[in-house]
Amino acid sequence: MTTYKTRFAPSPTGYLHLGHAFSAIIASELAEKSSGNFYLRIEDIDLGRSKINYEETIYEDLEWLGLKYEKQVRRQSEHFKTYEEYLKKLRDYGLIYPCWATRSEIKKIILSGGKKASSWPLDPDGQYIYPEIYKGISASRKSRLMLSGKDFSWRIDIKKAISFAESKIKSKISFDEIGLEPKGIRSAEPKLYGDLIIARKDIPTSYHLSVTVDDSIQNINLVTRGLDLYPSTSIHRLLQIILDLPEPKWFHHNLLRDKNGQKLSKSTNSTSLKSFRNKGTTRGEISKLIKKIDPFPLNEVYATKQT
Ligand code: GLU
Repeated sequence: MTTYKTRFAPSPTGYLHLGHAFSAIIASELAEKSSGNFYLRIEDIDLGRSKINYEETIYEDLEWLGLKYEKQVRRQSEHFKTYEEYLKKLRDYGLIYPCWATRSEIKKIILSGGKKASSWPLDPDGQYIYPEIYKGISASRKSRLMLSGKDFSWRIDIKKAISFAESKIKSKISFDEIGLEPKGIRSAEPKLYGDLIIARKDIPTSYHLSVTVDDSIQNINLVTRGLDLYPSTSIHRLLQIILDLPEPKWFHHNLLRDKNGQKLSKSTNSTSLKSFRNKGTTRGEISKLIKKIDPFPLNEVYATKQT
């Protein structure tokens, strides 16, 4: 049986809710059942939205849930230099290019093309597919823009990146899913994202780049997370191949939903674990609550056949 190194990787941009507890419990149990390790990673690259108070509450919540993680907690904001090195590799391979457009400028450009914004293709996260402005601009325009000092992000040339990766592995890109049915190898579809941002304007990274680099640095061999992040696995697998990073397996779990069928989220103010704690709810009651709204019983998740 494989010994799994799993992780729980919350962003301290709000209080954790039952969905996070569900995710953390699954990751911790998968590690425990395989005599592996469970890691905590604080995904705080968004310096504006991450708050120390939220981070401290994460530690308190996990303690209250009785989840034991490895001592070494990785905080992404302490590793921008590392992400920058990987970003440089992508640049050296000629797979990323600078983009000076803001989100609203992109929207304006899409609208000005005579097309309705509603008919413009969206990526799996609901963002407009980038219209590839600034791709292949002349060297002189590029250096003028660089000299202007205007902030820019780095976008991946997705077609080029896919053919770079495919010629490296001499096959189509795929990944191994052991959580969702049917379990096994699935084909990756990074092209659904178009030329997405790999490093934001303010930092030398993005969610996709740092999560990929960190899973490899932390030797994670089973990435456990919610179904909402399933599509991004295609991008992560693509980056792993390009950057020579090891290939983990993925365990995506269903999302807990509220009475109206909406997934629990920080932005819709789902009841926080902290407020359950403050009300005197016990860990046992939390498990019961999760079971009640869980789309499939926890035991079934744990019983997942391991290879
Ligand atoms: N930081 C992400 C979140 O809070 C999770 C990232 C991951 O598990 O890959 O949604």
